[in-house]
Amino acid sequence: ALIITDECINCDVCEPECPNEAIAPGEEIYEIDHNKCTECVGHYDTPQCVEVCPVDCIPKDPDHVETEDQLMEKYTQLTS
Ligand code: SF4
Ligand code: SF4
Repeated sequence: ALIITDECINCDVCEPECPNEAIAPGEEIYEIDHNKCTECVGHYDTPQCVEVCPVDCIPKDPDHVETEDQLMEKYTQLTS
């Protein structure tokens, strides 16, 4: 999964781009539900939130590192 860092400026452009509806406004900044983020595997070749974020604040979540196969499995479960 990816994670939004505290550099987020709450611009809201990423939320509608997420194919898994994994992004939502949190108390202070936008947040990614790691259970729903497939890093866009299954939907797109690149993470769509990263493509649109103007401040480049969405790295991989070091606490939720997943392989391509695991991400594809998550995609399958989310869409079944
Ligand atoms: Fe959503 Fe894709 Fe960003 Fe994950 S990488 S939060 S699935 S847009
Ligand atoms: Fe925050 Fe980037 Fe999403 Fe804008 S696009 S709300 S700055 S994470």
